[in-house]
Amino acid sequence: MKSIYEELKYLTSISALSGMEDRMVSEMVKRFEPLADEVEVDNLGNVTATFHGKEEESPSLLIFAHMDELGLMVTKVESNGFLRFDRIGGVPEKTLRGQFVDVYSTDGKESFPGFIGTHAHHLTPPDQKYIVPKTDQMYIDMGFTSDQEAYDRGINIGSAVTYSPNMRQIGKTRITGKTMDNRVGILLLIALAEYLNKHKPTGTVYVVACVQEEFSIRGVMPAFTRLEPDASICIDITSACDTPDLNYRYNVALGKGPAVLQMNFHGRGTLAGLIPNPKLRMFIEKTIEDLDLPYQRQTIIGEITDDAFTLVLGKYGVAMAHLSIPMRYSHSPVETCDIQDIESGINVLREVVSRFDASVDLRRGV
Ligand SMILES: [Zn+2]
Repeated sequence: MKSIYEELKYLTSISALSGMEDRMVSEMVKRFEPLADEVEVDNLGNVTATFHGKEEESPSLLIFAHMDELGLMVTKVESNGFLRFDRIGGVPEKTLRGQFVDVYSTDGKESFPGFIGTHAHHLTPPDQKYIVPKTDQMYIDMGFTSDQEAYDRGINIGSAVTYSPNMRQIGKTRITGKTMDNRVGILLLIALAEYLNKHKPTGTVYVVACVQEEFSIRGVMPAFTRLEPDASICIDITSACDTPDLNYRYNVALGKGPAVLQMNFHGRGTLAGLIPNPKLRMFIEKTIEDLDLPYQRQTIIGEITDDAFTLVLGKYGVAMAHLSIPMRYSHSPVETCDIQDIESGINVLREVVSRFDASVDLRRGV
């Protein structure tokens, strides 16, 4: 693997709007194929790299991270060439105006630059100055003067729109840009696959780059149904609260190590969330302590859940845990992580997977 910065810069430059992840699907097949015993793509686009274990009867482990990203979809092409849109996933309206975006032809093959128009400041009435408009009042400016210019490029209703790639290194160890959520997780999967290629695990390990987390959180479900793992670890980002506005609402900060989830909950209609299997969670914590690396204990309730709620799948359910890389400014184009946390995350994940065997007692009530 290249340096973490170079690898993330590359991975975040590959757009993969939820449901339209084909570029990332082929990238992951390309990355996994030289490393894994088998690589499989299911009908939804989930890419599974299988590493057969030394002992087939040992418990199997599924490690997954979502490779899709949030964005927008074109809902209307105005006769004067401006594009209207809706959100795909939890795109924050407040950070949209003035942002560069890439708009894709409906066959997904070509992209064109544009930006979200923003009200001219000189002409903004005082009562509108502090108001965030709804998406139906916003538009994308592509530099077109007619709808025909959009149609000529294959842009139409249904076109995908993503933030434009913009990764930068900030300060000594911070990196910022679009789609750190969850290309950071994908980077960890690639690093794990490289390790497993040289170090055969005890039980079978499935490394899954999954789809549609940002849209419906259910994309990974067929992988669980088909593979029936005994245990699983979800790799994703979590919100660091070490900025002046959040003021440590939760005790997670950049640069203090990966976070081990204790509980997350969406708290609204989905009722989705995760309280990890206590023994699997403690196994991860003990492994990190043995490595003498820092980690953070994370709880979070609010606009947050992810595809780890799949612990309820299968006849017996799945012993699930969650390892997160702290990140500021989630879902904005300036998502920010610390390289040291990512480095630690790679080491932790490799060690957890190589230690995992039948001696890890995941039974409940004993
Ligand atoms: Zn995510």
